[in-house]
Amino acid sequence: MNIHEYQAKELLQSFGVPVPSGSVAYNSTQASQVAEELGGNRWVVKAQVHAGGRGKAGGVKVVSSLDEVKKAADAMLGSRLITHQTGPEGSLIQRVLIEQASTIRDELYLGFIIDRASQRITLIASSEGGMEIEEVAKTHPEKIITEIVDPAIGLRDFQCRKVATAIGLKGKLMPQAVRVMKAIYRCMRDNDALQAEINPLAIVGGDDDLRLMVLDAKFNFDDNALYRQKTITEMRDLQEEDPKEVEASGHGLNYIALDGNIGCIVNGAGLAMASLDAITLHGGKPANFLDVGGGASPEKVTNACRIVLEDPNVQCILVNIFAGINRCDWIAKGLIQACDSLKIKVPLIVRLAGTNVEEGRKILKESGLTFITAENLDSAAEKAVAIVKG
Ligand code: ADP
Ligand code: MG
Repeated sequence: MNIHEYQAKELLQSFGVPVPSGSVAYNSTQASQVAEELGGNRWVVKAQVHAGGRGKAGGVKVVSSLDEVKKAADAMLGSRLITHQTGPEGSLIQRVLIEQASTIRDELYLGFIIDRASQRITLIASSEGGMEIEEVAKTHPEKIITEIVDPAIGLRDFQCRKVATAIGLKGKLMPQAVRVMKAIYRCMRDNDALQAEINPLAIVGGDDDLRLMVLDAKFNFDDNALYRQKTITEMRDLQEEDPKEVEASGHGLNYIALDGNIGCIVNGAGLAMASLDAITLHGGKPANFLDVGGGASPEKVTNACRIVLEDPNVQCILVNIFAGINRCDWIAKGLIQACDSLKIKVPLIVRLAGTNVEEGRKILKESGLTFITAENLDSAAEKAVAIVKG
């Protein structure tokens, strides 16, 4: 689960991390009121969407009058922001963050991720923060510093100092860097985050009061831990999530929308991944990932078909079931039920294997409906691709 920048900043602030003074606004009048209350003479109006790259896409505006705050908020709210992370349809802006503009001396990068190889939280830092961090990773990988955290003892001061030195922090900024890094680490760990990205961590202020300040923050949380993270769960913005994904999770289905035209209904995440691979290998593009899970009842299969078909790009559905706990006869009944109730017009390519497979095939055959059957995954994928390619 992702949260907005303003929520991430509130969270960080509660752990003692310095962030600019600011507040969220849902309309332009509110936006200028927030700016007036903040005081000062330079503000930043920032589009709140769950995507990065806002700065380059016009979603971050520095302004210097209350009127400009209002105008910038008006222009953003209700419009769609298209960044390199949103896809061509963009994200609808429904909230803006108004905060005091900082005088930036330098922009650094700080991130915490779970490194799968070491199975530990890893601190990533770079002196080259700002809007081009992906470029830096590609062209100057040596400018990306990493430090692995031992979960038994947590992030140590010496590790923070090592990283801070490597990204050019010294003098009065050193103790601040240690405090900030440790606080972000605690914030991530205590809230079951999978990822925390601070870009930029800025050096702000005048010569005699240089300070570190978090100007942008992104968090991603472990969905499986949300049951024990009430505060985080309350930050959920369903508008930012694919409605089909939200609905699917309500039915116990694991659905992720993709941009192709072959719908997929598969049991098991591994087999679902393999199905996407097989489709791609045959030159096709999957429209989604969908794991119906073990013991999929006919109702669950019907729901799966409905959710897949809500995507207008879907031209056929590949059903790939390798039944262990599942039963092929249930899946077959579910498919027939779905065809009846949903009036499915797109071809269904069905591959059944495992528990009660003979019974399942018999049910499909005797239904009088046209299913395209396949013996194995490879031929199912080949048939699906052939259909969409006409
Ligand atoms: P994104 O990463 O989505 O482009 P950021 O929040 O990082 O959005 O903003 C982009 C850039 O805007 C930052 O790198 C920084 O230079 C500037 N910026 C953001 N917030 C502030 C602020 N409060 N004061 C001054 N400049 C800011
Ligand atoms: Mg940023």
